[in-house]
Amino acid sequence: MTDTTHTAPRTALVELSDVSKHYGNVRALEGVSLQVHAGEITCVLGDNGAGKSTLIKIIAGLHQHDGGTLAVEGEETRLANPRDALDRGIATVYQDLAVVPLMPVWRNFFLGSEPRKGAGPFKRLDVEYMRRTTHAELLRMGIDLRDVDQPIGTLSGGERQCVAIARAVHFGAKVLILDEPTAALGVKQSGVVLKYVAAARDQGLGVVLITHNPHHAYLVGDRFVLLKRGTMVGSYERADITLDELTGQMAGGEELDDLRHELERG
Ligand code: ADP
Repeated sequence: MTDTTHTAPRTALVELSDVSKHYGNVRALEGVSLQVHAGEITCVLGDNGAGKSTLIKIIAGLHQHDGGTLAVEGEETRLANPRDALDRGIATVYQDLAVVPLMPVWRNFFLGSEPRKGAGPFKRLDVEYMRRTTHAELLRMGIDLRDVDQPIGTLSGGERQCVAIARAVHFGAKVLILDEPTAALGVKQSGVVLKYVAAARDQGLGVVLITHNPHHAYLVGDRFVLLKRGTMVGSYERADITLDELTGQMAGGEELDDLRHELERG
C-alpha cells in the first residue's frame, strides 16, 4: 500500500550546514545550520557579536565560509561575490540603505538597472516606464505612494525599507535577506515594515530576517535560529517554541538571574 500522507522533502532555497567562519584567530561562526524555504520567514536572532553580520555576509556573497557547506537550491556552492549571490536570486537589504536621498523614489527604485528606450545616440532613460512600474510595484506590495517623484529622503525610514523590499521583489529575488530592518524604528513603523516582510513571503520569497528583537521575530517568523558568540544555541520551528521561551532565550535567562543576584548583594 502506498503512503499517501508522505510528502517529498522540499529542497531549501538556501541551506547552511555546520558552517563556520574565522577571521584570523577570531571565531566569528561555528557549527551554524539553517534552511531558507520559499514562502517562509527564517529569523536569525542574537545579540551584538553573535555572528549575525558574518552569517549575512556569507549568504550575500561578501565573505566565504571556511567550514561546512552552503547549498543554493540543492546545489553545494561557494558564492564568489555579491553579484554571484544576486545572479542566483539572493538579494540583501541592509539597514543603512544605499539610496540617494535627493533623487526621486522611482530613480532610486531603478538605480543601477535603468531601462532605456530608443537606439544609438537617441537612447535615453525610459522615465515614464520607471515611474509607472515603481508605482505599480509598490501598490502590489500594498503601498500606495501618490507621488513617486518625491525625493526618497522625504520618506520615513520604514517606508524606505519597504521600497527596498519591493525593489528586490521586482528584480526577481527568490531569497531576501533583511539586516535588522526594524532596529532604528519605532513600534508603528516597525509594524509597517513587518507587514511588507510578510507580503514578500506571501509572494513566495524565502526571507531571512535578522533581528535582536524576539517580539518582531515572533510576529512573522516560521523558524528561529538563535546565535550567541558565534555558535548556534537553538534552532526551532514555530510550533516548537512560544514567544515567552524565545524571549527568555534571547534575554539569556540564567545570566539575567545571576546579574539580579549580584545586584541584590550590592
Ligand atoms: P553581530 O552582527 O551579531 O553583531 P558579527 O558577525 O559582526 O556579529 O561578529 C561576530 C564575531 O566576529 C565578533 O566577535 C566580531 O568581533 C568578529 N568579527 C566580525 N567581523 C570581523 C572582522 N572583519 N575581523 C575580525 N573579527 C571580526
